[in-house]
Amino acid sequence: MWVVSNVDDIFDELLGRESIFINREVLTHDYIPDELPHREEEVSKLAYILASALKGGRPSNVFMYGKTGTGKTAVAKYVLKKLKEKASSLGMNISYAYINCKYRKSNYRVLVKICEELGCTGIPHTGLPTDVVFDKLLTYIERLNRLVIVVLDELDWLIKNAGDDVLYQLTRINNDLKNSKVSIIGITNDLKFREYLDSRVLSSLSEETLVFKPYDSTQLYNILKMRANLAFKPGVVSDEAIKLAAALAAQEHGDARRAIDLLRVAGELADRKGSLKVTSEHVLIAQKQVDRDIIESVIRKLPQQEQIVLLAIIKLSMGGEMITTGNVKKVYEKLCSIIGLRPVTLRRINDILADLETLGIISATIKSLGRYGRTKIIRLEIPEDLAVSILSEDIKYQELIPIVIGGKKF
Ligand code: ADP
Ligand code: MG
Repeated sequence: MWVVSNVDDIFDELLGRESIFINREVLTHDYIPDELPHREEEVSKLAYILASALKGGRPSNVFMYGKTGTGKTAVAKYVLKKLKEKASSLGMNISYAYINCKYRKSNYRVLVKICEELGCTGIPHTGLPTDVVFDKLLTYIERLNRLVIVVLDELDWLIKNAGDDVLYQLTRINNDLKNSKVSIIGITNDLKFREYLDSRVLSSLSEETLVFKPYDSTQLYNILKMRANLAFKPGVVSDEAIKLAAALAAQEHGDARRAIDLLRVAGELADRKGSLKVTSEHVLIAQKQVDRDIIESVIRKLPQQEQIVLLAIIKLSMGGEMITTGNVKKVYEKLCSIIGLRPVTLRRINDILADLETLGIISATIKSLGRYGRTKIIRLEIPEDLAVSILSEDIKYQELIPIVIGGKKF
């Protein structure tokens, strides 16, 4: 009898259909494994830093960075979970707030989320001045009378969209606290992010720094092997399939998330086809699907103004034109006028371009024009036809698509 813990797997089991999965939940993004092979050093470094909490001290702030899928979130959550368990076994109270700034890009929303995570409810989701929310948070933390650890994951999203005011305030908060203390763990996937920070904020945030290197294919193989053993019945996934998924993800940039995505999608493909084995062929098909899925969900979730900036970039790219900020602005404004939308300012367009770059949809290099200054040269990093096909599913852009692909210059 297999241990079945996923609803789909339970249905399959009841229907008498043989599934190759034991527990597909371990292949989802939220799952935190009990072991983190190849991250022993990072885990123990973070544990050493946070251990001072158990002696009543304030652990140093920590700045963690490295590319997507290098285990930063997993390591942070893993060590904090252990710390909390240890603290409560010693009868100590430690609170922690985990915030993913990707989903809360304003100072206000980040502060409200910190409050909520710490159990301070009832703050309206809009309407108060940010300073008032900060004061409420300060008072609440002081009353908690304990160490509070605030984890700001994907911090670059907040800083790029809202500046570093709140981060500055948080790094100074201990000056106004007597009974409680706050430690901050800041995490980012964006290696260039430090340039956006004021040097004082950066230095107080990075009292300690943890750098996460990409995994190589052997390390990804080990991580996948462990995950496959938990997810699938024994012998289902061929060793070649795991090796291939590891190699493909290592090429990408040593991204464990992508490796696990490949394994999950390959497994689902095999399962749907009634195959009792997951093979290299399934992994190859999964690769195409994962690429498409990622791009699709990213583009669909973009706000409308960002989608139109993207359409402008696609148009320029398809027309073989040089893509500069100025050109993008011109085409974007034209597209806005066609659908009767008020265009945003140049400053906002620059923010949007930074967002699209963080998402990997475009890349940008700065080119010197001699005495004419410098300009940003943009490149579309996703296939034009794929981007067009995703955006053309949106009825709002029906009128724009023929113009974008028509090649007519503005
Ligand atoms: P990051 O935050 O750096 O983008 P994550 O911590 O989210 O990366 O890791 C991506 C995925 O890979 C998660 O599902 C995580 O559980 C898994 N993972 C990362 N590193 C390891 C590891 N060393 N061992 C096992 N699983 C890992
Ligand atoms: Mg992460």
